[in-house]
Amino acid sequence: MVPCDSVLLRGMVLKYDVVIVGAGPAGSTTARLCAKKGLKTLLIEKERFPRYKPCGGCLSPRVLRELDVDIGGVIEDTVSGAKFTFQLRDPFSIVSQNPVGYLVMRDSFDHLLCRKAQEGGADLYEGRRVVVSLFIRCNKTSSMEKKGLWISHPLNP
Ligand SMILES: Cc1cc2nc3c(=O)[nH]c(=O)nc-3n(C[C@H](O)[C@H](O)[C@H](O)COP(=O)(O)OP(=O)(O)OC[C@H]3O[C@@H](n4cnc5c(N)ncnc54)[C@H](O)[C@@H]3O)c2cc1C
Repeated sequence: MVPCDSVLLRGMVLKYDVVIVGAGPAGSTTARLCAKKGLKTLLIEKERFPRYKPCGGCLSPRVLRELDVDIGGVIEDTVSGAKFTFQLRDPFSIVSQNPVGYLVMRDSFDHLLCRKAQEGGADLYEGRRVVVSLFIRCNKTSSMEKKGLWISHPLNP
């Protein structure tokens, strides 16, 4: 995430307070929270949603507590215990009264969080890989005066 003055996209200069590269759970959540705070927010993702993501997709209950988004619709299964073994010998199981994890498919989970960021007011550019140059201009006393982020996407159509 970079606070910036301007974004250059195919020759167009766009003005954003915040640009976030990558609409995984971290990027989409950050975008949603920034937009919620009133910041003009741009989220850029190189893939198109829903996109496959190699991941176990297991979320701890803490994720559900801390994420202020209802993800009930994308939970595929609930984990309520675990089986332990060494070299497949003497397995033992621990079963919990309460769920210890929730399983999601990352294509739908990430898509949901991205949609929530958009609903919250963030702009999304998907299917665009970002090439970033960060320019920092200093004033005479060498303190940082201005930040700019120039972005293009020549690699993906
Ligand atoms: C095999 C495997 C299993 C896992 N299992 C679990 C699990 O069960 N539970 C768990 O909590 N975690 C698991 N993880 C870890 C989990 O996948 C990561 O912690 C999580 O995806 C990180 O989220 P993120 O939003 O930071 O980044 P990511 O989910 O990686 O999102 C980054 C996004 O940025 C985009 N991007 C990258 N470069 C650019 C660019 N130049 N321009 C535009 N977009 C770009 C990518 O396309 C991607 O969508 C697993 C990981 C692996 C590899």
